Amino acid sequence: MSNEVANLLLPDKPVEECGVFGIYGAGLDVARLTYYGLHALQHRGQESAGIAVADGRQIQLHKGMGLVTEVFTGQQLEQFCGPAAIGHVRYSTTGASQPLNAQPLVFRYAKGMLGLAHNGNITNITELRAQLAATGSVFQSSTDSEVVVNLIARYNANSLEEALMKCMIDVKGAYSLLILTENALYAARDPHGFRPLCLGRLGDAYVVASESCALTTVGAAFLRDIEPGEIIRIDQSGLTVTRGLTAQQPAHCIFEYIYFARPDSTLDGFNVNLVRREMGRQLAREYPVAADIVIAVPDSGTAAARGYAEESGIPFEEGLMKNRYVGRTFIQPTQAMREIGVKLKLNPIREVLQDKRVVMVDDSIVRGTTSQKLVAMLRQAGAREVHLCISSPPVRRSCYYGIDTSDEQELIAAKLPLEEIRRNIDADGLHYLSLEGLLDIFAPRQNHFCTACFNGHYPVEVAKPKESGKYSLE
Ligand code: SF4
Repeated sequence: MSNEVANLLLPDKPVEECGVFGIYGAGLDVARLTYYGLHALQHRGQESAGIAVADGRQIQLHKGMGLVTEVFTGQQLEQFCGPAAIGHVRYSTTGASQPLNAQPLVFRYAKGMLGLAHNGNITNITELRAQLAATGSVFQSSTDSEVVVNLIARYNANSLEEALMKCMIDVKGAYSLLILTENALYAARDPHGFRPLCLGRLGDAYVVASESCALTTVGAAFLRDIEPGEIIRIDQSGLTVTRGLTAQQPAHCIFEYIYFARPDSTLDGFNVNLVRREMGRQLAREYPVAADIVIAVPDSGTAAARGYAEESGIPFEEGLMKNRYVGRTFIQPTQAMREIGVKLKLNPIREVLQDKRVVMVDDSIVRGTTSQKLVAMLRQAGAREVHLCISSPPVRRSCYYGIDTSDEQELIAAKLPLEEIRRNIDADGLHYLSLEGLLDIFAPRQNHFCTACFNGHYPVEVAKPKESGKYSLE
């Protein structure tokens, strides 16, 4: 594929890394419930999926490359038995996209078997891996998750909680972890709570998931978020809570609300859909435009566009239609078909746009290529003016905590001032939501969020510039 076409196909959005789901429930079909839970978390990773089930004696595992529905058949799920399961969907930012790096990872060590599913990025991984390798550890995969398993095994402590606690002292960065032994399920969250993790109840069973949408999908009631620094053990005696590390200043990823998480999820006390609506309202207050219609870049811009419409009184219309079936295995256009580009995913509705002054609301701009094409598309469909409103502040820095934001040199807002970006994408107006306006939505907990990709204030030290990200048609 030529560079030009390859560039056309890079996703122009940050990409979420992983989703995790775990359940402990005697008498339940935990494998099937995990399958449904992972399906609800599919937006968090589409490259690989896996489920591990513990039956009191051993851990069975099945994982593979692809979507949850591609990796599992009903027959495979029926082969699992036992009361506890963990599952994982993955998009890789550390470690290549290959079967060995798919999760859960399952190992044997001195005390038995251990399964692990991890969401987040460990920032001191190079140092930890070098230390472990120097003292004889060998690694099967290139994921940072395997380093965690090695550390736990090395500590060989009296209890897994104790080993996990020691491991949490060594490991820096972002992690929401699920660990499975032959007879218990553990959940742990880093002391800043970067990545989400919540707890639910299904009858007598406990469920843990990256997002509350996975709990409700399997019929579980939301109990609470796992606290930053907390370790939870679930086994046949019920649930035990241990404070692994003292919670630090919370630094929940604010991009979960802007783009990654499903609108029907509530994370750390805030419903994603309502937050996005409020972002749109705030945008309308900050950037009032004389326009005829408000449209969204679906789907992640939809709630904010509705908020903008409500606040401004300008009618909301569907001006862009999304094709939901452009998947991972889609045959990419050739050089000769490059004009098709973005239209494979989004197509304008001429009858809505013709002769209109349009406010188009999107959640973020990464490289700017998609925005440019969308503005051109609206103009070709007859729009008289196009004002682009972005429901996040400009993304100027890379993320080191589990999100692929692209390299800094590829971020348009890191390279160009606002007016040049506007000219570059050929919009009549461009406005990003202010960071203050965004944080005000979370009052009085404005300081509970990581905003490093906007302002470079990294809550946990980062060692080196980010390596190149990976891309798929997204
Ligand atoms: Fe989220 Fe940005 Fe912080 Fe990464 S840097 S955790 S994407 S807010």
